[in-house]
Amino acid sequence: MACEAQKAKSSARLYTATVSGLMQTGRLVRLDDEITDDTSSWIQRLVSTLGEPVVRQAVLQAMRIMGGQYVLGRTIDEGLKKGPALNRADTHFSFDMLGEGARTEADALRYFESYATAIRTIGATGEGDSVKAADGISVKLSALHPRYEFRQKRRVLAELLPRVRELALMAKRGGIGFSIDAEECDRLDISLELFEALARDAELANWDGLGFVLQAYQKRAHLVSEWIIALARDTGRQFMVRLVKGAYWDGEIKYAQEQGLADYPVFTRKCHSDLSYQLCAERLLSAQDVIYPQFATHNAHTVALVLELAGEGDSFEFQRLHGMGHLLYDEVSVDHPKVGVRVYAPIGNHKDLLPYLVRRLLENGANSSFVNRFLDAKVPPQELVHDPVEETLAQPAGRHPMIPVPRELYRDAALPWLNAWGIDLADPIEVAGLLEKIELATASPRGAAPIVGGEWLAGEKRAVVNPAATENVVGHVVEADAQAIEQALQRASAAQPGWDALGVERRAVCLERMADLLEQQRKELMGLIVAEAGRTIDDALSELREAVDCCRYYAQQGRAGFATPQRLPGPTGEINELSLHGRGVFVCISPWNFPLAIFVGQVVAALVSGNSVIAKPAEQTPLIAARAISLLLEAGVPPDVVHLLPGDGVKVGGALVNDLRISGVVFTGSTATAKLINRQLAEREGPIVPLIAETGGLNVMLVDATALPEQVVDDVITSAFHSAGQRCSALRVMYLQEDIADSVITMLAGAMRELELGNPAALATDIGPVIDLAARQMLERHEQRMRQEATLLARCELESRHAGGFFFAPQVYEINRLSQLPSEVFGPILHIIRYKVQDFPQVLHDINASGYGLTLGVHSRIDGFAREVFNATRVGNTYINRNLVGAVVGVNPFGGQGLSGTGPKAGGPHYLLRFATEKTRTDNVVARGGNTQLFNLQE
Ligand code: NAD
Repeated sequence: MACEAQKAKSSARLYTATVSGLMQTGRLVRLDDEITDDTSSWIQRLVSTLGEPVVRQAVLQAMRIMGGQYVLGRTIDEGLKKGPALNRADTHFSFDMLGEGARTEADALRYFESYATAIRTIGATGEGDSVKAADGISVKLSALHPRYEFRQKRRVLAELLPRVRELALMAKRGGIGFSIDAEECDRLDISLELFEALARDAELANWDGLGFVLQAYQKRAHLVSEWIIALARDTGRQFMVRLVKGAYWDGEIKYAQEQGLADYPVFTRKCHSDLSYQLCAERLLSAQDVIYPQFATHNAHTVALVLELAGEGDSFEFQRLHGMGHLLYDEVSVDHPKVGVRVYAPIGNHKDLLPYLVRRLLENGANSSFVNRFLDAKVPPQELVHDPVEETLAQPAGRHPMIPVPRELYRDAALPWLNAWGIDLADPIEVAGLLEKIELATASPRGAAPIVGGEWLAGEKRAVVNPAATENVVGHVVEADAQAIEQALQRASAAQPGWDALGVERRAVCLERMADLLEQQRKELMGLIVAEAGRTIDDALSELREAVDCCRYYAQQGRAGFATPQRLPGPTGEINELSLHGRGVFVCISPWNFPLAIFVGQVVAALVSGNSVIAKPAEQTPLIAARAISLLLEAGVPPDVVHLLPGDGVKVGGALVNDLRISGVVFTGSTATAKLINRQLAEREGPIVPLIAETGGLNVMLVDATALPEQVVDDVITSAFHSAGQRCSALRVMYLQEDIADSVITMLAGAMRELELGNPAALATDIGPVIDLAARQMLERHEQRMRQEATLLARCELESRHAGGFFFAPQVYEINRLSQLPSEVFGPILHIIRYKVQDFPQVLHDINASGYGLTLGVHSRIDGFAREVFNATRVGNTYINRNLVGAVVGVNPFGGQGLSGTGPKAGGPHYLLRFATEKTRTDNVVARGGNTQLFNLQE
């Protein structure tokens, strides 16, 4: 790439001239029409103090001023009127209808209407004799369909494509340009598919207005540019291609890190995106017979580069955002009067303005932003004139040193560990391989049995069925009998001292090998999780990654805590040390809802701390547990150190808890079972042993009137309904400030209608079944009760195809107070309580009075509000402006207070301590003949 772009190197000279020209005219000294950093922080300060009427007025006024700066008009008519008045009379526009992506069908139809009106209105102006000389429109596909996602490909092609096509046909009739805006990288594939369908549509032929937006910051940009050129030649038509740098860079970096992707889809260095822009610009300019390039930039270097590459003429154009960059283009037009400059002009009302404004402010305020530096009179033009080719060649390493690849995200932590590999579920090739493995796992029955001393014990088999299709037997399990329990206890007790004495390093290496094995077999394991626990592919992936993270994180924590005794202070002549050791035999009792992550997490934490382990998995998910124990043995854990005893909670779990040979219990499950175990342990003779219990929650989200409804709805759907609401962290009650309650509820109900309930092995499925008949019946009983004493607000529909599994329709009820729910309801039922601002103290009181304290959500754009909620509530994990689920090991250590658990938090730095016993060693060295250290002291 560097070589090809080298040609453009001399463009820097032209740029210097442009900037110097501006400076000489004195226009850089005071730029009223550009936004600076100061303005952005001013607005933020104002917004954060919303509440005082005077301040509200001031903020509204500020919004109006800022809105006028960046938004051309509230309606397309206003935009068409104001556009020429605010710009040169011959300026062309590409209008953009502001707004967040649609969450509901109603939103999508509303956006469709607004695009259709805009296209008709623009077309009716009849300006220009070609699409190039006419105003155009930019269409955001996420506004036209609530599920514009790769995984919903079938619906996108069946439902979204006809809508875009209809708009495109209108644009063709109006003789205007019609560009499909670029969005997040994981939508690139599906957008190419839609674009190709439009390009090959016979009714759209003989029209040069079909446009694509190419983001240069994407690493695939140059390949996409080639693809578009090839498509144009293949279809014998002309496309408009707007080349942009890309607007979601920060979001893309974060997303890739969270997902543990192999690498970023975007460049990490600004100069690489600039270079990619150059390369794409060259490609597009070399295909002007089929491409009409539109260079969207406010960077004078890029402008100069394009001018040098393209020369004069009307076979390309520049584009700038309304409210930005016109000084630059005024200057350009002096020397290049024939070059067209189109203005990208947002249209929308105040309601839709804020996200757009914030993005513009961030963009202009960023240190790396050309516009920001350009406006800084202290930065000399030469410093701005960085040739991306030179800059790139000057870098010792390719990528940005401060942005590690997602795998190495935690490399700078005090105890670094590797981030678990993710799978890009928007990558068609990756997904095809995954689905194949999942299908295979679903189709090939597995076994589970007591694994004692590495041997699988024989016995009577019980079938394990797929909760999504109960006629499908996933495998068989032999449950542990008294003999198996006794054998496991004997062997585990005998083996523990040796395992403890082996030292933490050898144990930690076993955990790391386990992490590697889990990653190597992740697709098969995901298939098993899907089939046995009814988890969706997404859930199975996050579960797998959590198990892997547990292994690597606890290995590191173990090394740090257990390897070397801690030296303590004391009088001279005495050595004092504190060391950590395994307690003995730990019983690990886990639930079915995280059949791999919690199971593995408990077991490896106990093991690395020097304990031997007897694991008792949930009755519903023994197959995954057996697979995990087999992998641990393969990873090098001695067969007498870890044992598996599948079976009934009371019979097997109860027998283990009662046995005096066990030295600790780690339990995750319901509060009721935890209390039972606690009582059992208390009644035993012999030593008092620790119980680590992670239990249920009555998890609440507080949403104030400043929250962004779209984000609230996304996070509520994920938190309350994904995983069929069967996560301990799942949202149970949303407190909604009454001022926005109706609109949020309407949007939520609409978004629920778009959810896909069904076979968890299908990528498109959002919500699978609940775990078993008992779980469904419990939910049905709660549903009955709610129908009597609450108001049903929304409910997903079940269809006949759901009859073969334990499906339960997600639903939402409005209740009056939290005390209507005395305990956790484990499934996809959300409760909503409206609150008034003055009731806020009572809300906080009620949350604490529930006695639960697992997770809590806050949605607000006021920092002070979120801080107040955090400080006033007794809850283990608080999440602000995001969903409540998916805690990440080492990042969001997880666990509750009160009725929700004993702590310490799983995946946190204090967890292993609870599995350990402490010993001190005090050695009076003087007794061996005197205090030589003291005698040898130097002056
Ligand atoms: P559960 O309490 O019914 O069962 C959990 C485990 O305990 C199972 O292995 C079961 O066989 C065993 N068990 C049952 N009775 C026992 C007894 N008398 N003695 C010993 N063991 C016994 O819970 P579940 O239905 O499997 O799981 C769902 C619950 O788990 C929910 O309440 C959820 O909130 C909670 N959970 C909490 C967390 C957390 O981290 N806080 C995580 C996941 C699940």
